[in-house]
Amino acid sequence: MPPSSDPTSSPAATTPSLYLETYGCQMNVADSELITGVMQTRGYRSISDPALADVILLNTCAIREHAEDKVANRVRQLISVRRSDRPVRIGLAGCMAQHHRDRLLDAIPGLDFIVGPDGYRRLPDLLEADQPTAAVQLDRSETYHDIVPVRGEGLRAWLTIMRGCDRFCTFCVVPFVRGRERSLPADVLMNELRHIAEQGYKEVILLGQTVNAYRHDGVDFGELLRRTCEVEGIERVRYTSPHPADFTDSTIEAMTECTKLAPYIHLPLQSGSDRILSDMQRGHTVAEFRALVKRLRSAIPGLALSTDIIVGYPGETQEDFEATSSLMEEVGFDHAFLFKYSPREGTRSFKTPEILSEQEKGRRLERLIAEQLARTLRIHQTLLGSVVEVLVEGSAKRQPQWLAGKDLQYRTVCFEPAGASPGDVVTVLVESVTSHTLSGRQITNA
Ligand code: SF4
Repeated sequence: MPPSSDPTSSPAATTPSLYLETYGCQMNVADSELITGVMQTRGYRSISDPALADVILLNTCAIREHAEDKVANRVRQLISVRRSDRPVRIGLAGCMAQHHRDRLLDAIPGLDFIVGPDGYRRLPDLLEADQPTAAVQLDRSETYHDIVPVRGEGLRAWLTIMRGCDRFCTFCVVPFVRGRERSLPADVLMNELRHIAEQGYKEVILLGQTVNAYRHDGVDFGELLRRTCEVEGIERVRYTSPHPADFTDSTIEAMTECTKLAPYIHLPLQSGSDRILSDMQRGHTVAEFRALVKRLRSAIPGLALSTDIIVGYPGETQEDFEATSSLMEEVGFDHAFLFKYSPREGTRSFKTPEILSEQEKGRRLERLIAEQLARTLRIHQTLLGSVVEVLVEGSAKRQPQWLAGKDLQYRTVCFEPAGASPGDVVTVLVESVTSHTLSGRQITNA
């Protein structure tokens, strides 16, 4: 790829430039940091204006059809305004590229390349190709352990500790687009964690599709959590997303003993009906999920739980739906990510006929959303008058003279400051709440 000769950009424009948009989950955000790392080693600089870029790349999500449609429209629009006064390469990366690898280059005229989640090392070479080209081989050994991600600004760093998934839940495209499960070596991760701390990040979130299935050379997830908490400079440690069936005593003991481990777990449930859980091949029953929640709550004081729920999985009856609604209430989830079932080609549930109309799925979804908002508000109201510990991130969105950050349970807290700055850990007296935020005033620097 030749260097940019764009006269409107800075002297740095003598180096080629990359514009990268990221869609989907935190794994994709972390992958975009890897992609940026790969491209920087080849001399590319990141820019925020696609109109000035030599390479335009969209890192995509395949989890729902709607997400794919959105990206397809966006890339068509970028292609339609592509500059003609110099070569500009436009490509799609990530899960959607992998999912539709056989047809994307034909379906989107003007698309130059596609690259799947295991092909990022080949990106610079793809840019040299004369023809539309693809790097979509899955590679069971690819962990990018030697690539240094280029992280964004802020106090929170994400670190991918394992890739892929072996569980093959019937609705999920992830094992097909991200490949089989593999963990990174613990020593590589510890080096990266020290690097993260040196760069000034205060909080780290360990990432994996089934993060608590981490295992490498005798180091299990619990041991990795303990080692992570020993890294000086990192003040809070979180992880996402664990699978309910992969929780071990070792992980729960680490959560009990390591004070840096925040008492918040995102615990995907998907359905509260045993019949649907079995159809989904989730690997656990409602009773086992309940028992896990009980173990976690008794081991971890102040634990907050969030979850993922799919509404309208094929065959979901009113009774199944009511079971989900009542289990959500019984568990008392602090927060929930709620979605309508979206059939994904290639998955085992794709050909299973749906019995519900889109309208009925929508009604069920709206009901769960309303129930969850009311539940979250109730939980927040119990915090009125209490003191929470907040890692300060910056100005509050609605009151710029106030500061905002996350408490240990990952709740957003806005507060009237008394000498705090971003990066500080402070205590805040909670004086008012909504279902989205806690508000109050700073008491001390913790
Ligand atoms: S555990 Fe199931 S839902 Fe999660 S990534 Fe793996 S296959 Fe998908």
